Amino acid sequence: MSEFDLIRRHFTRPTPGALLGVGDDAALLRVSEGQVLAVSSDMLVCGTHFFADADPRMLGHKTLAVNLSDLAAMGATPRWATLAISMPAADDVWLAEFSAGFFALAEAHGVELVGGDTTRGPLNLCVTIFGEVAADQALRRSGAQPGDEIWVSGCLGDAALALAHLQGRVILTEDEFAACSPSLHQPKPRVALGMALRGLASSAIDISDGLLADLDHILGASGVGAELDFSSLPASATMRRFLERPVGVQCVLAGGDDYELCFTVAPALHDDVLRIGEQPGRLLSCIGHIVAGRGCIVRDEAGRPITLQNDGYDHFR
Ligand code: ADP
Ligand code: MG
Repeated sequence: MSEFDLIRRHFTRPTPGALLGVGDDAALLRVSEGQVLAVSSDMLVCGTHFFADADPRMLGHKTLAVNLSDLAAMGATPRWATLAISMPAADDVWLAEFSAGFFALAEAHGVELVGGDTTRGPLNLCVTIFGEVAADQALRRSGAQPGDEIWVSGCLGDAALALAHLQGRVILTEDEFAACSPSLHQPKPRVALGMALRGLASSAIDISDGLLADLDHILGASGVGAELDFSSLPASATMRRFLERPVGVQCVLAGGDDYELCFTVAPALHDDVLRIGEQPGRLLSCIGHIVAGRGCIVRDEAGRPITLQNDGYDHFR
């Protein structure tokens, strides 16, 4: 199979939303009236972000999901993506599975794959995603104000707990692992939520490196601090069984790969957020508030600060 057969077979689908998609030297894209482009890249590297024997269909899903999550955090509507892939060999079965996982999620979110690059090398997957949003409605990290409420979507820590199990740091039962592993392998990017928060949230970020690490980006960009209430952090039934132990606390506060949204809103908008949270399958939790100053304090039920050994994933630390 030549490089071009491979691209045609596995990565070429109709792209009615583009002036020109896969097959020329560049795609041609027209941005909708009144909108600006929101552009983000995320790379998944074998051995760093996933195991070499990862299920290719789930990997196709996750490769796009982590990028969609960035657009969700900006409140942007996903439109197009490019995919740069380097791989040791052209394995037709692997590629068919990978692209099935990728396109299933792409179709669910109306994303068109309009280009990319395919080379031989260590397995490495890099998507660049393009979305649209009105410039004054994009959710930035920099707008949090003292007094704002801090909210998160979904449950925290399940992906990190599943990873801890795979790495032998905790032992989960078969049922517990089955409950947590979809969060690790098939995260659900909160695209519709991000769009619903346009014009409402004062700041937003997606949680990829752990709640505290990502919230800290909001705090730094906004020049504020935060107080969190540990008992109001959303945890699944499985996760709750581990919250008495340091590994559970670590997963909820600093586990990576949640791909939930963390956002702030003015207290006057509390009921608007509750209304947005009424959608079936959508869980929103108010977990604390923004304060003047810097840093983040997490308090237990007795009001005592909780300290952590490691507050998030950093590739170079
Ligand atoms: P060039 O040599 O001009 O960079 P390529 O030979 O790399 O072009 O790619 C040919 C066409 O296939 C281009 O339109 C490119 O965007 C597209 N393409 C290459 N790899 C992928 C991929 N993995 N997914 C989607 N489109 C791809
Ligand atoms: Mg090329």
